[in-house]
Amino acid sequence: MTRAKSAKACPICGAPRVEAFTPFCSKPCRDRDLLKWLGDGYAIHGPPALLDEEDGAPRPSADDLDDEA
Ligand SMILES: [Zn+2]
Repeated sequence: MTRAKSAKACPICGAPRVEAFTPFCSKPCRDRDLLKWLGDGYAIHGPPALLDEEDGAPRPSADDLDDEA
């Protein structure tokens, strides 16, 4: 192969991304990222009504959504 490697890689496993699953390399990696998002969402979600009625406690910043180690 003389083709240059794409600089873009799957953020989950680092493999070359596949167009169909951009920016991931495969369905499992895409699913894993999705699950991570959902997991975070449920973790900090709690009862939405309570958040509204209480004085809006600051939510933890989700700065680990994009972990590229
Ligand atoms: Zn991957």
